[in-house]
Amino acid sequence: MSIVVQKFGGTSVADAERIKQATAKMVRAKEQGHQVVTTVSAQAGMTDQLLDLAREITPNPDPRELDMLVSTGEQMSIALVCMTLHSMGYEAISLTGGQVGIITDGAHTKARIRSIRTTRIKRELDRGRIVVVAGFQGMNDDGFITTLGRGASDLTAVALAAALKADLCEIYTDVDGIYTADPRVEPRASKLDAVSHDEILELSSVGARVVHSRAIEVAKKFHVPVCVRSTFNDDPGTVICREVMGFDDVPVCGAALSKNESRITLEGLPNKPGAASRVVGAIGEGNINIDMIVQSFPTAGKADLSILVKDLDLSQALSICDEIKDEVGAEAVVPEGEIARVSAVGRGMTSRPGIAATLCRALGERDINIKMFTTSEINISVVVDAEYGEIGLNALHEAFQLHDLPAAAPKIESPSDVTVAEIETVEGLHVQDVLLDPDQAELKIPSVEDRPGAAAELLDAIADAGINLDVVLQTSCEAGISITMHQDDVERAKQAVDAMPSRKDREPAVIGTGITKVSISGVGLRSHAGAASKVFGSLARAGINLQMIGTSEAKISVVVDTADGKRAADTLRNEFDL
Ligand code: ASP
Ligand code: MG
Repeated sequence: MSIVVQKFGGTSVADAERIKQATAKMVRAKEQGHQVVTTVSAQAGMTDQLLDLAREITPNPDPRELDMLVSTGEQMSIALVCMTLHSMGYEAISLTGGQVGIITDGAHTKARIRSIRTTRIKRELDRGRIVVVAGFQGMNDDGFITTLGRGASDLTAVALAAALKADLCEIYTDVDGIYTADPRVEPRASKLDAVSHDEILELSSVGARVVHSRAIEVAKKFHVPVCVRSTFNDDPGTVICREVMGFDDVPVCGAALSKNESRITLEGLPNKPGAASRVVGAIGEGNINIDMIVQSFPTAGKADLSILVKDLDLSQALSICDEIKDEVGAEAVVPEGEIARVSAVGRGMTSRPGIAATLCRALGERDINIKMFTTSEINISVVVDAEYGEIGLNALHEAFQLHDLPAAAPKIESPSDVTVAEIETVEGLHVQDVLLDPDQAELKIPSVEDRPGAAAELLDAIADAGINLDVVLQTSCEAGISITMHQDDVERAKQAVDAMPSRKDREPAVIGTGITKVSISGVGLRSHAGAASKVFGSLARAGINLQMIGTSEAKISVVVDTADGKRAADTLRNEFDL
């Protein structure tokens, strides 16, 4: 019999009336012949209230006791939901995370799911019951209650769906689905019928917080289709799945804005191994998440490395960078607060020239200056002054006509054959592959004018020559733009750039050949801070010099001398046991 896992957020169980609407959805699935497991969050506002209670007593509550406290919010909800189902004449049983066998590590308040035992749930399902599971919680090896981090009931639902090999995981919430951009910022945002795991991961990493990103990671890893839809109407919602049909000609399917970001640039790093490793390692030890790392190609033997962190973490990250400044040989450490990141995401942008140019042009036309730039296969992100974040998002939405996307449909497949027991941990870092891209060349365009539209004109000129760009990076305008592409195209790209009237009085573009791109791809590369440390640490220990660095949700890429390419790939394979 098919299994459906449903999740209801805090607003969907906020009061008796809404609980009735939520249980109607559970009953509907049951009547359709599915076995039904539902996960519920605490009633809206409850988790915050419980945290406030704790803070009234002490500013630093013991994490174990905090978990004991906040996990009760979800326990209230499951009991109330079950009572409602009983009163409607349905058999149902409520179970806590520990009772259903959600085993986590010991990191109280931010535990990760290791494994899920499904015997208990299956037994209850076979008795014809609706199983109502408390979201957001599990149990560690000592049998203590742990919680998974704010908003992580989504994760409980998707992990249960993976473990049970459910046919579908439905996330019921107070919006109709996932939109091409946040509708509060972009009035013309339109609802997506379907979107891929990869795309939504990139979008959630840049601030589109409809579904918890750790939940999407698990969905991607175990091929769980996830449907996001409203508790309060019958809209079919948005399906997040592996493959989407109908978007073949759509380069960009979503845009996102991430505010409250800050940048730190280590300028003038010597062109030798180890700096990135030291920086990423030290920041990681300070428990600070790096949102983006960019290092553009060195000029005159010196490179700039920029990292993006949240505003809240800026002062701590800055003092860490100041501490290691001399050790890594940086000439200066330059902080900049109040910046925003605007991103365009879409699988269709791969192998289509001119997408980066279109994005830059859209911003340039609205007089928005691009301060920093990074691309990966399916994501182009630019950094702008915080005050231009919203307009930047609107410009992008318009430029890629996101209000008018064609219809799309999920490609439905059967659940993954990978069983939870086969892999080490449900939420563990999962490195799929190390990819080697030789035959690359780099075009370095020194000192881009610091004005809106400058980058767009450059990228336009290259796109007009029909050249497909691989990685485009810019740490700052003075440092210029680095672009990698196939080596056969680089001479033509240089000619196109040097021939531009605006480049007449500027230094000509410089070609760097003999470089290789090495990337690792997988799930959890950004949420597991250790992943970047392992990449940069192992390469540094092997004495390999990194020419360029770019990171995204699903990939960490470095550019090295071709002579080092194979050794770099072997080092990474070794490091990640591939
Ligand atoms: N109740 C938890 C929170 O508010 C988990 C959730 O709602 O998903 O963070
Ligand atoms: Mg929530």
